[in-house]
Amino acid sequence: MRTRPPDSLREIQFQLGIAPHAAGSVLVSFGNTQVICAATIEEGVPRWMKEQGVSGGWITAEYSMLPYSTHSRKPRESSRGKPDGRGVEIQRLIGRALRAAVNLEALGSRTLWMDCDVLQADGGTRTAAITGACVAASLAAQKLLREGKLSASPMVHKVAAVSLGIVEGRILLDLNYEEDKDAAVDLNLVMTESLDLVELQVSGEEAVFSRQQLDALLDIGGRGIQQILEFQAAALRTAQK
Ligand code: UDP
Repeated sequence: MRTRPPDSLREIQFQLGIAPHAAGSVLVSFGNTQVICAATIEEGVPRWMKEQGVSGGWITAEYSMLPYSTHSRKPRESSRGKPDGRGVEIQRLIGRALRAAVNLEALGSRTLWMDCDVLQADGGTRTAAITGACVAASLAAQKLLREGKLSASPMVHKVAAVSLGIVEGRILLDLNYEEDKDAAVDLNLVMTESLDLVELQVSGEEAVFSRQQLDALLDIGGRGIQQILEFQAAALRTAQK
């Protein structure tokens, strides 16, 4: 049972530096959903970029759910022997979101690997992953600046994401698993600090929705993202001290 108002977020926390060997890392929590996001910098770019003469850098993301992140154990992909379609879709989404946040030209000839591993899944793991990946990428960019490898930050936007749904006719912001499984409409929203859209995934699950409902979802989602961006900025300020 949801005890907080329909348009309010779960408690959001960022624990920076969770993976010390990464160039930037964070454990992000949206309520009980917890995702470890880590950025690793690799000098050089994928071969296709060199072959096609594409200048600048690249960002690629990987997403996985740790076996014990779900109620019943989820076998690792390495033991299943085949890629998980949902995971592939989510990691592409994370990659696109981060490429909107970073000026690839300014990144120079390097690859930023974004690894997002779900520690505990309770709905909204992809949106938490995007929000955390932006923090990890910002920390990695600060490291490149500190080391004198870059003279200006390649981060052009901050991005954050949140999920929404319509459950029993009510719009709910930031759904947990119990709410998500009953949702007639599912929406994942990725936006920048100017509240420009980076990605909008919305689908009716055996249901339809009106333009008015879509507008209301976007309004509530936009306000949620604004708050998430404030928490994100506050977390990053602590890293600069
Ligand atoms: N889930 C799960 N096992 C899976 C996939 C999903 O337990 O293999 C749960 C998990 O709590 C997840 C939720 O279902 O957060 C909703 O999954 P969805 O595919 O909608 O992605 P998410 O909301 O996590 O981005």
